[in-house]
Amino acid sequence: MSGARDECGVFGVYGDPAAAQTVLAGLFALQHRGQESAGIAAAGAAGMRVHTGMGLVSQVFGSVDMGSLEGEAAIGHVRYSTQGESVPENAQPFAVRLRGGYLAVCQNGNITNAVALRRELEEQGAIFRTTVDTEVVAHLVARGARQGLAAAIAGALERLEGAYALLFLTPEGVVGARDPAGIRPLVLGRTEDGRHVLASETCALDLVGAAYVRDVAPGEILSLGAGGLVSRRRPGGRERLCVFEGVYLARPDSLLRGQAVHSVRRRAGQRLAQEAPAPADIVVGVPDSGLSAAMGYAQESGLPYEMGLVRNRYAGRTFIQPTALLREGGVRLKLSPLASVLGGRRVVLVDDSVVRGTTARRIVRLVRDAGAAAVHVRVASPPVRFPCHYGIDTGDPGQLAAARLDLDGLRREIGADSLAFLSLEGLMWAAGADAAGEDAARGYCHACFSGLYPAGVPAEPGKFAISALAGGGSGGGA
Ligand code: SF4
Repeated sequence: MSGARDECGVFGVYGDPAAAQTVLAGLFALQHRGQESAGIAAAGAAGMRVHTGMGLVSQVFGSVDMGSLEGEAAIGHVRYSTQGESVPENAQPFAVRLRGGYLAVCQNGNITNAVALRRELEEQGAIFRTTVDTEVVAHLVARGARQGLAAAIAGALERLEGAYALLFLTPEGVVGARDPAGIRPLVLGRTEDGRHVLASETCALDLVGAAYVRDVAPGEILSLGAGGLVSRRRPGGRERLCVFEGVYLARPDSLLRGQAVHSVRRRAGQRLAQEAPAPADIVVGVPDSGLSAAMGYAQESGLPYEMGLVRNRYAGRTFIQPTALLREGGVRLKLSPLASVLGGRRVVLVDDSVVRGTTARRIVRLVRDAGAAAVHVRVASPPVRFPCHYGIDTGDPGQLAAARLDLDGLRREIGADSLAFLSLEGLMWAAGADAAGEDAARGYCHACFSGLYPAGVPAEPGKFAISALAGGGSGGGA
C-alpha cells in the first residue's frame, strides 16, 4: 500500500575466486531494493571488468558468461533512481580508469550537496558523463588518487553530506563506507572460510552462506583487502538509521541492528491494536510488507488473522512502477481478493504505510468489491507528511496524501470506514528506540514522519537538481 519507492542495494566481496558469482547471488537477494538496473564490477590480476544493464538482475546477467567477470574482488548494485530518469548510463557500479589503476563505486542513498560539489568540480575542469551523484564521488576520489586510493577515498568522504552506503572497488580490494549519521544501512558478514562480505541487508548474507558479523558503524570506512579487515572510523554523529527500512523497505527476513525486521513490524502491529482498536471480525494484511504487522494486530486484538488478499508473485512491487498510471493498474495485477474470506465480514485491513494514498484507495475498493461489510484501515506507521531527502523516493511533497489532507479527509479519499495510524512513539517503541531520540545510540531517522532531518536538507532539493545543472538529460541518484 505504501507508495514510497525503494532506493538501491549494494553488495561486495573480497578474496573470493568466484567473486562476481557471489555478488550476483547477493544481488538476487537485494532485488527488492531496486529493479531498474543492475551491475557488477569485478577485479583481479587482469584488471577490472564491469557489466551493467537495465532491468532485473536476471535480465541483466541472464546471458552473461560470469567467467568473463574474473577476479577475487567484486562489488554490485541494484538501482531504483531517486533523482531522475532510469537510463543505461546511470546504471552502477560507476567505473573509471586511473593512471596505473582503476576505481569503481556504487551507492545507496543521496549525497545532498552533490549539486554544489559537481558545480565546483566543473569549474575546475571536470567533465561528467552521467547525472548520478555517484559520479561526483568518483571524481573526488580520482582527484586525490596521487596520495593513494585509501587516503583519497577518506578525503572524498569528508566532502560528502547526506545519507549513503558506498562501496568502492580498487586494486587494493573493496572499501565500504557509511554516512556519519548511519542513515543508510550496511552490514558486514563472514563466510565459513573467512571471507568478508558487505551488503545493504542481511538477507543477502544468508543467500551466500555468510554469517552476520555486525553493522558497519556510522561514519566507518571498512577496507577488505590483502591485509584483512581494516576499520577506520571518522567522527560520526548520533546514529540515525532510516526507520522506514523497518517499516517497509527491508525484507522481513533481514536484521536491522541485529533485530529481525519481521519482529519490528509485528510489534508495530501489536502497538497499533492497542492504540487503534476496530469493531471487526477479521484482520487482513496487505502483502507483503503489511503481513507481519497484521499478525501482530491480530495477536493483540484477539481477532482472527485471515488471508484475504493474495499476491501475484510474478508481478513486481507496487512502488517500483515508474508512473502513476502503471502504479494504479499495478494493484489489480499484483493483488487478488478472496471473496470467500472477505464476504460479509468487517475487515481490519493492516498495511505498513500510506504515502500517496492512491494504492490504498485501490486496495480498499478491491476488498469492498469482494463483499466486505466494512473496511477499517490501520497503518503500522505514522502519516508520511514530509519528503525524504536521503534516498527514498516519496515523490513531490504535494503528492503526500497526509500532507494535504487531515485524517478524515484521507479516510474519505481512500474510501475506508475508519482510518488510524500508529503514533511515532509507537513506531519507535516497536523499533526499540524512543521518539525523542534521547537514547542517541538507538536513534532513528524519522524525518518523513516528523520533519526532523538528522543530516540537513539539500540547498537545491528535487529529483532533477543534478539534471538541471547538467542542462537537462538523464536523471541521477541511486
Ligand atoms: S526521511 Fe524517512 S525514508 Fe528518508 S531516511 Fe529518514 S526515515 Fe528513511
